[in-house]
Amino acid sequence: MPATKTRASRAALAMALVLLLGGIQPAAQGYVLNYTVAASGGCPQPNRFNTATAGIVDRRWSTSLSSSPQTVLTAATDPDARLNEIEQSILRSFAVWARVSGTSLVQESLGPLGRTTTQSACQLQDGLNTLCFNQSSSLFTGGVLAFTRVVTSDLVGEQPFPNSPPSAFIGEILDADILFRPNDSDIRFATPAALPAHPSAFDLESVLIHELGHLFGFSHSGLWRAIMFPFAPPRGTFAGERPTEQRPDAPLADDDRVGLRVLYPNPADIRLDAVNGGQIRGRVVPVNSAALSGLPETSPGRAVTGIFGAHVVAVDADTGEIIAGVLAGWSCDPASPPVRFDGSFALERLPLGRNYKIYVEPLDGPVSAASIQSAVQSLCRSDVPQPCTPPPVNTRFTLLVVP
Ligand SMILES: [Zn+2]
Repeated sequence: MPATKTRASRAALAMALVLLLGGIQPAAQGYVLNYTVAASGGCPQPNRFNTATAGIVDRRWSTSLSSSPQTVLTAATDPDARLNEIEQSILRSFAVWARVSGTSLVQESLGPLGRTTTQSACQLQDGLNTLCFNQSSSLFTGGVLAFTRVVTSDLVGEQPFPNSPPSAFIGEILDADILFRPNDSDIRFATPAALPAHPSAFDLESVLIHELGHLFGFSHSGLWRAIMFPFAPPRGTFAGERPTEQRPDAPLADDDRVGLRVLYPNPADIRLDAVNGGQIRGRVVPVNSAALSGLPETSPGRAVTGIFGAHVVAVDADTGEIIAGVLAGWSCDPASPPVRFDGSFALERLPLGRNYKIYVEPLDGPVSAASIQSAVQSLCRSDVPQPCTPPPVNTRFTLLVVP
């Protein structure tokens, strides 16, 4: 995680998509969100755009593309046609998220997709949400294919960028940039039209849709089918299904959709809609509470009283379909912050009319605590009136199945 804080009143974090090493048996876990704690303290608030304003998700991309080696492979060869082909992929990828039903993040939330010829257009925190394919970064270590840097507001009313409106809430995303790994002869990205002819390339849209999940506020999911799973699909393949007019959000899993509905609730939908209003709440606690006694206090006077970092997953009991999962382990009372590490979880915006089973699983791989470290760290701050420190993610418990 890069410490790209340029002002005390902004928090920045970066999340990366890495190569899948293969040979692993992914467990069923679920989506995780990133949070911001206000500069004045309080409960963590989820990072998200202010969708009350149309066109709020400003977006542009840098048309600077490396040619030797060629990072982005297209079916078209003419320079203008190449740019158009890449741009169509970018537009389709945004539309996948904007067309999930039952959220306030809709196509109208997105501004027009602009272009810039600046190579390092993702260098600056400028209030512009930018995609770059030709900008190097020290974060491209190991198998990192792409990463997203998100800057959020921790002070209501701040206007860090001249052209953006003052922030309306804590956690409001002010600037998010996506960087693809450039200049690597072994790692190339191909548009859907070019992928069949380039089986050693990574699918541009799969990687981009994943990074856009970070741009919109997600951390990672431990769920194999989720687009927010932290490992890319193998070379030459793509995640899920391609979007179609009938199923515009097709590459996403239910876990991604539920997470987006939680992050961008549609107020009308919550009151009136009988489709996605399900909620399951609870706590994950050890059978013997003495098992937690060795853990450090996370804030003055507050011991860890539940399992922190378990994934709680809702499964359709009739079909076996995994619907959604969340990171369990904390709650926060706005009247008494900071976070309590009491094992609490809340599965919200679940499809109604189904029978659910709940699974509780440790975060012990292939998605480990490292994959959601930014989300865990974002629950607490040390420089606020109510400081806290997250306990270590607890992976030393056995799976329970509760009817
Ligand atoms: Zn990622």
